Amino acid sequence: MERDVWERKYHLALERMESDERAFRAVEEMLRRLALRLVALARPSGGPVESLLERLTAELRGTPSPAVIEPLLDALAEAVTRIDDAPAPDPVADAATVDALRADIARLQELLSVVGARLGDMTRYLAGELEQAGTEAAGSRELDARVREAMRELGEKTLAAVDLASLQTEVNARLSLIDRHFSDYREREDARLAAYRDRAERMRDRVEELESQASTLQDSLRREHELALTDGLTGLPNRLAYERHMAEVAPEVRNGGMTCVGAFDIDHFKSINDTYGHAAGDAVLRIVGQTLARELEGRAFVARYGGEEFVVVFRHLSPAEAESLAQRLCDTVEKLAFHASSRPVTVTMSGGVTRFAAHEEAADAFDRADRALYAAKRAGRNRCVLL
Ligand code: GH3
Ligand code: MG
Ligand code: MG
Repeated sequence: MERDVWERKYHLALERMESDERAFRAVEEMLRRLALRLVALARPSGGPVESLLERLTAELRGTPSPAVIEPLLDALAEAVTRIDDAPAPDPVADAATVDALRADIARLQELLSVVGARLGDMTRYLAGELEQAGTEAAGSRELDARVREAMRELGEKTLAAVDLASLQTEVNARLSLIDRHFSDYREREDARLAAYRDRAERMRDRVEELESQASTLQDSLRREHELALTDGLTGLPNRLAYERHMAEVAPEVRNGGMTCVGAFDIDHFKSINDTYGHAAGDAVLRIVGQTLARELEGRAFVARYGGEEFVVVFRHLSPAEAESLAQRLCDTVEKLAFHASSRPVTVTMSGGVTRFAAHEEAADAFDRADRALYAAKRAGRNRCVLL
């Protein structure tokens, strides 16, 4: 989406550049025609000045480049200066006419150098503009219109000019008008570009801010999610986490994978609460839960199912392996050294283990494990039964 917007902007900017370029080329062409007209107006008969003017005319008819025009203008200046050092004019020639002609040529030469410099300026400016993206369409159209108007008027004045002096005045006036239009345009473009950069900067800051907010939200969501799947008292996964785990295991079981489920319950827990208090009961739950987690780490999944009951998923274990591991868990709990009022207290646990069969639901396997657990209770507790 963002990328589309930038691409459209880029193409729009390119179109504007191309239209600007066409406009500037037209202006350049008009200036060239003007220069040709001036050269024709001032052409003397014979001598190096005429041949230089002819070369200048030829250059201007082609694609003039400042690198060629500049030395030609220098040579022309040189040639004009040498007219002053030349031998005295033909006595029959009218001295006043020759002087006036020299003065005209000198002014014309000056004018040509101004026109040449303007052509160079415009070419350089055009090249610079083309490198920048984002020229505003309305601004460049306005500049285009103003320059065209100035050039059109200049063309009219050139045709109407009766002498070189008035022509020179007109040319200078129009050129400075064009200059002013150009610098106005540049100022406006610079201001627009600065505002644009400023806006882009603010947008980037806002995006960064939103990104950091999003990552904070993501972190707190992750924490909430963990909390929703964790038992507050023991720190073990809770019943919901167990159900999710079984949902992951079920497809594997359906494809013939071996998994067993074990249900465990602390024996006579009510009497622990009754004799030593609820806080002592909580401590027993915490320690038994952490012991199961430590014993099974990397081997099986354990969760607090509720109350003083735990559930274990023996993934990839056969019923015999699961039963033996379950028995070891019960033995470990029995060996835990609990104390209440400085007296040792023995805590035991019973368990029921069953295989999660391919054709059944996870809840069916759990019910069977629970039935095995109660069989263990009936058989005297502190033991495991496989069903
Ligand atoms: P059995 O050997 O047959 O399992 O006997 P039991 O006393 O362990 O079983 P019963 O279901 O009679 O009692 C369980 C007790 O566990 C009752 C309940 O108050 C207590 N209990 C359940 N959850 C918690 C808990 O989070 N903290 C504490 N302190 N006690 C709890
Ligand atoms: Mg119990
Ligand atoms: Mg119970």
